[in-house]
Amino acid sequence: MKVIKIGGGSLKGKGNIQDILALVAERGPGHIIVISALSGITDMLIDGMTEALRDDAAIPSIIRRLKNKHILVARHILPTGKFYQKYTRNLNDHLDQLERLYYGLNFTKEITPKIADVISSFGERLSADLIASALHSRGLQATYRMPHKIGLITDGKFGDATANLPITARNLQKNLLPLLKKGMIVFVPGFFGVSERGDITTFGRGGSDYSAAVVAAAMDAEILEVWKDVPGYMSADPRFIPEAQLIPSLSYDEAAELSYFGAKILHPRTIEPLRKMKLNIAVKDTMNPDASGSLITSRSPKARRLIKSVAHDTDIAILKVHSSGVGARPGVLARVSITLTENDINIKSVVTSQTCISLLLAGKDIDKGYHALKGLRPRPYRRLEKVQDVALVGIVGEGLLRRKGIAGKCFTAVAKRSVNIEMISFGPSEVALYFLVRNQDLQKTLEAIHSTFFSALSPPVGKT
Ligand code: ASP
Ligand code: MG
Repeated sequence: MKVIKIGGGSLKGKGNIQDILALVAERGPGHIIVISALSGITDMLIDGMTEALRDDAAIPSIIRRLKNKHILVARHILPTGKFYQKYTRNLNDHLDQLERLYYGLNFTKEITPKIADVISSFGERLSADLIASALHSRGLQATYRMPHKIGLITDGKFGDATANLPITARNLQKNLLPLLKKGMIVFVPGFFGVSERGDITTFGRGGSDYSAAVVAAAMDAEILEVWKDVPGYMSADPRFIPEAQLIPSLSYDEAAELSYFGAKILHPRTIEPLRKMKLNIAVKDTMNPDASGSLITSRSPKARRLIKSVAHDTDIAILKVHSSGVGARPGVLARVSITLTENDINIKSVVTSQTCISLLLAGKDIDKGYHALKGLRPRPYRRLEKVQDVALVGIVGEGLLRRKGIAGKCFTAVAKRSVNIEMISFGPSEVALYFLVRNQDLQKTLEAIHSTFFSALSPPVGKT
């Protein structure tokens, strides 16, 4: 039995959804489908909370918008008559509940983590019902089971939960195996589970990949297939490097490193539940389902090329904390990082020298981070500086750290194009080397590296 994950990116546009239905009808019987919310719905649910908090008069229109989105798809994929009626009845019930939650939130004038998780979990509930109904209406045996009803148990941490695998495995096997044995297509909404106390807890944004991995591990599936609207992992972003190639196979660690970058093919935590069981993940293109895609295994098979991919991220900024002797005054780093954490700012990486701490932050966090540190008294630094027009470049490949000369080859290639490297991080990850360049140098940098490591002279990995 397989677990198949269908993401929100594939659940948009009537044509796409029809394609997905055909694919699931053909390949889904006897398997579990973990499904995301329709594209854009989780954002609507979350934005709705702020609107509802401000003004209860906004609530009916939030609900109307959500209803319209689903009805529009339902009209297209469900025949008129009993299936359509049943779906809209369920939809209305769900939306009634949701409406009450929004009013509750307005009444208490507070968005608690608990209510935020319940509200944001509605997208997956609605899509699972919709897609399962559409298949059912086509004569297939399709059904769905809600994670909180079948015992997908979490540690109860709102917004960033972790599944309890042993308990979940017991519960899911008991509840789902009988359905699968009958050859049914079983949908499980992704993104959330339930704590032992009965609280709905989400796995964080983009968390249905993680859900799918949890379900796959719990059910001891033969494989986790992730169906996406892209061909798989690529050796570079094809918008920058048109000759970028598909990566046919990569290791857990390589996939995890790459998940922080551009294409964001998988949520970084997807690997976690699978590691122990060494379960493979196949990334498949819904537009081209017979293509091989990318296979992720616990260890990468011996590849002809050490470097799998050169990835980049432009949503990045550096906050430089200048202070003499920071290397000898560890308290400075602690104060700085505690202050940022208290302000909900994630530090992606840190590089320290004797005179400066360079903090790598998401672009959106830089102003908030700057102001948080500005407010510190007494000031643990001499000067703060924001560096914003930078891009993070990563070269990823298992064994890269152990092979001599890789860094040299990389930086020589970049230097030949007169690119100045702003900051280097080599060591924290076994499989990646990171550095920063100015945005204006990004294209040149990617070209230099891609042509050095993926030149026509050496055949691409896999094509031997
Ligand atoms: N629907 C959720 C989100 O948008 C989870 C997911 O799609 O993975 O974050
Ligand atoms: Mg996703």
